[in-house]
Amino acid sequence: MERLTIAIDGPAGAGKSTVARRVAQRLGYLYIDTGAMYRALTLAAQRRGVSPHDEDALAKLARVLTIAFAADGNGQRVLLDGEDVTDAIRAPDVTAEVSHVARHPLVREVMVEKQRELARDGGIVMDGRDIGTHVLPNADIKIYLTASIDERARRRQREMEARGYHVALETVKEEIARRDRLDSERAVAPLQKAADARLLDTTGLSVDDVVEEILAMCRTRGREGE
Ligand code: C5P
Repeated sequence: MERLTIAIDGPAGAGKSTVARRVAQRLGYLYIDTGAMYRALTLAAQRRGVSPHDEDALAKLARVLTIAFAADGNGQRVLLDGEDVTDAIRAPDVTAEVSHVARHPLVREVMVEKQRELARDGGIVMDGRDIGTHVLPNADIKIYLTASIDERARRRQREMEARGYHVALETVKEEIARRDRLDSERAVAPLQKAADARLLDTTGLSVDDVVEEILAMCRTRGREGE
């Protein structure tokens, strides 16, 4: 069977990574979490004392870093120059700065090039904010996942709890809203639904429901609109 390219975009906490990982597993595809790439760059910058506002230094750093993904049972590890930073890139101080790092055009140029390279051979599920609109405009399947802000905040809070971070729901909600604003309002490749993306509102839906819906889209690809 043809190996498809699947792009999943949407705001923070919409369940993109959980869904994307599961779809990739079911299809035997590679899963690429582009948010993790921006997070890894943010962590590297923080460690080196590079300001999130120094576009040139950040782009230079992005060029020399090696960000890789390694399969790990049901999950995936993120490797920054060979070091496992899977947990470190989810720390609140990385989350707080990542949208500032990701807004710079020169930084995005480097990251997008890496992402296109990873997707070159198809058989891939890539999630992020600008995959369907910018990184892979010719993707076979495009999904825009969203959910109400309350539901997204609850999901994100549960995820953080599981990692040992206890944060009030209101605080999580504010953080998500702030990041969505920064991501939607930036000048280059803002968070946006691609015109040809299918909108999936996951409020009240289970992960299984969403995964099955996407798999069904893959099966009927080419027959849509008939
Ligand atoms: O997906 P995640 O929440 O981990 O993404 C972290 C941040 O990385 C986003 O808030 C956004 O600022 C940035 N990002 C981006 N473009 C992508 C993926 C993530 O700008 N394709």
